[in-house]
Amino acid sequence: MHHKVHHTVKDNITSFKAKLPDHVCLIAVSKTKPSSMIQSAFDAGQIDFGENKAQELIQKAVQLPDQIKWHFIGHLQRNKVKQIIDYVYLIHSVDSLSLLDEIEKRARLKNKQVNVLLQIHMAQEDSKFGFSEDQIQFLCKENTFQNYQYVKVLGLMTMATNTSDQALIGKEFNALKFLFEKIKAYFSSDFKVLSMGMSADYELAIDAGSNMVRIGSAIFGNRNYES
Ligand SMILES: *Cc1c(COP(=O)(O)O)cnc(C)c1O
Repeated sequence: MHHKVHHTVKDNITSFKAKLPDHVCLIAVSKTKPSSMIQSAFDAGQIDFGENKAQELIQKAVQLPDQIKWHFIGHLQRNKVKQIIDYVYLIHSVDSLSLLDEIEKRARLKNKQVNVLLQIHMAQEDSKFGFSEDQIQFLCKENTFQNYQYVKVLGLMTMATNTSDQALIGKEFNALKFLFEKIKAYFSSDFKVLSMGMSADYELAIDAGSNMVRIGSAIFGNRNYES
């Protein structure tokens, strides 16, 4: 099979790998982009890719190399959990207990561990999904997360407010890091991941303590449609 080689994508992967600190994991967000671009990124050494639609993730997963780790980063409907569970390496976007319960149920049926992050709503916009800081602290104190056997909570994820106000973005990232340190004792020793930072704000996120950044447009170019 002949693949179009995307040289710019390869170069972008190489340059991100060179400039990110070693403790920061790069997730290449490939949503809306063709498999040939993902293949080019993979050929440049990229293993972790992020998608935000169940169907799209599955379609790409079946045609691309098995070594790829697929990260689900979009709002996940409960009825899609069953479909993606065999393909997904880490679900970043667990934003409700009912979703967590569904993942636990599906993981139990497969007798398989499923890795997740809890999405926290730090931004001021109402449109964003996620637990609030108060909610998550309440749930921790109730020992809610100790009830899950098959779901493994590896950390927290957030999206900052979509703004050019760098001070506000920095404040939100710092607040998530603070929350992470405050609640980590309620989780296992695998609770280590702080997924925050995108193309426009990953440097602020890393300064605040992020160890997983989700970069789309800065690697693959602008998307034609937002999703
Ligand atoms: C699309 C998306 C990204 C990547 O955004 P870019 O600005 O293109 O880097 C990161 N995280 C989530 C949750 C996304 O939906």
